[in-house]
Amino acid sequence: MIPKLFSELGLSPELLKAIAKLGFEQAAPIQAAAIPVLMAGKDVVGQSQTGSGKTAAFAIPAIEKTDPRERAVQVLILCPTRELAVQVAEEVHKLAFFKRGIHALPIYGGQSYDRQLIGLRQGAQIIIGTPGRVMDHMERGTLRLENLKMLILDEADVMLNMGFREDIETILKSTPPTRQTVFFSATMPRPIRELIERHSKTPENVRVEQTAMTVPTVEQIYFEVDRRWKIEVLTRLIDVHDLKLVIIFCNTKRMVDELVEHLNTQGYSAEGLHGDMNQAQRDRVMNKFRKSGLEFLVATDVAARGIDVDDIQAVFNYDLPYDVEDYVHRIGRTGR
Ligand code: AMP
Repeated sequence: MIPKLFSELGLSPELLKAIAKLGFEQAAPIQAAAIPVLMAGKDVVGQSQTGSGKTAAFAIPAIEKTDPRERAVQVLILCPTRELAVQVAEEVHKLAFFKRGIHALPIYGGQSYDRQLIGLRQGAQIIIGTPGRVMDHMERGTLRLENLKMLILDEADVMLNMGFREDIETILKSTPPTRQTVFFSATMPRPIRELIERHSKTPENVRVEQTAMTVPTVEQIYFEVDRRWKIEVLTRLIDVHDLKLVIIFCNTKRMVDELVEHLNTQGYSAEGLHGDMNQAQRDRVMNKFRKSGLEFLVATDVAARGIDVDDIQAVFNYDLPYDVEDYVHRIGRTGR
């Protein structure tokens, strides 16, 4: 069995604390599969899509491997675009929150060199950058990679499609051969496979299968919504269909708490169910739900395991689950 709890992945207390602060309740499949291999120092080729939790899958081991006392670049994460670099850097910052002395710095085209130079001089250990700007800094001698321990290529297929092949080759060749190499790519066309073959050492393939399973008696509908309008769409659907007994699933404890608060301020009767609650608290919420004093149960996957309530009218996947099996469990709460 692949471990699903972050506490089973051999992480430091500082990382576990940051993960708890982010509200992640269980490891996404790509994280459960990739983190132990990366922690063991092996090269990894990960095949998974955006939204699978891949950023944390490489960022967590990258932070764990960084020595805060050493003021040199130890990890380089290459991303195709400035937007992605910024996003990845934000996630690294959040995950490294409790690890003192770790500095992560995004460097990308379009931002002033000065700011990046200050950060580099101050001894940033984790650099998140686009290939072009990383090359610029290498040529100017402002970015030195001789102490690099880990090189991560995020969305490697996109980087190659954007014409970064030569830059990537040059960067790879400027790093110590002892480095750990990590490729993440949604697709694995031949140029990517060649690059992997040339630049990594017997990598372990980590792939998250997206096999489809269906529950025929349940009607499944999806809406494409900008995240700012999710609550609005949710409450409107509840009103239009006059729903009275509903389970709403979120991926994090924090999201559960936020959504419960929003629903209650808008006059809906909602309560949350998540892994931080003790048994007595859970029983109280479940009893209320069963006896219909409560209309909306907002839950995480872990907390909702084993819930059995008759006559549930609808299940909302407010956040999409990472795991196909979780999805099937969620929607199986209705339609019986
Ligand atoms: P990514 O695939 O890396 O773009 O991640 C998509 C989103 O999922 C990001 O907003 C992450 O913060 C979030 N996320 C990553 N891992 C988890 C997890 N184990 N539980 C809940 N949310 C997560």
